[in-house]
Amino acid sequence: MAETDDKTGPPVTLIEPIDMTKLDPNFRKEIQNMPDGDEVNACFACSTCTAACPIANQWKYKPHQLIRMILLGMREEVLSSREIWECLTCFQCQERCPQGVRVTDIIFDLRDLASEEGKIPDAVKFLAKELLEKGQLYVVTADWEREDLDLEPEVPGLSTDEFKEILKRTRTGKIAGGE
Ligand code: SF4
Ligand code: SF4
Repeated sequence: MAETDDKTGPPVTLIEPIDMTKLDPNFRKEIQNMPDGDEVNACFACSTCTAACPIANQWKYKPHQLIRMILLGMREEVLSSREIWECLTCFQCQERCPQGVRVTDIIFDLRDLASEEGKIPDAVKFLAKELLEKGQLYVVTADWEREDLDLEPEVPGLSTDEFKEILKRTRTGKIAGGE
């Protein structure tokens, strides 16, 4: 599935031929058996999820297309797609789906599957490593700023050690740590 690059008219979505030999007939079942996928078969391609999504216009594969691709068995394309990582997890799609398809939660499941197969974008890996090493993604106040503000070098009472220990034992910790 792809959109034309023609910027002169209204967007037109063309359906590229799908190579049937590359489809995974078990993918639909795999998602259905995941904690949030039981309603995926109920999708009737109404595109309400896409209409609600604040970022879909930036995506090659819109939310309703990702769900359709799951149903068709396009496992490789879905798990390699950047869209599953760029989702803002705002739940707008899921809130509005008339069929009760848990679109956002399915995207979380897709990230889990992609992670297990090592299909993690570098930027996400970098953030996970930062979290593992520092216990937080954002420094509360930078060193130079603390000095300028005449604050103690460390934020009083802030310790991320326990969190880091817990994180190391999670799957995220293991993947980010290269295990
Ligand atoms: S809103 Fe629900 S039923 Fe409609 S296309 Fe999206 S997932 Fe399918
Ligand atoms: S949760 Fe993700 S896919 Fe759903 S509307 Fe928000 S950004 Fe779009």
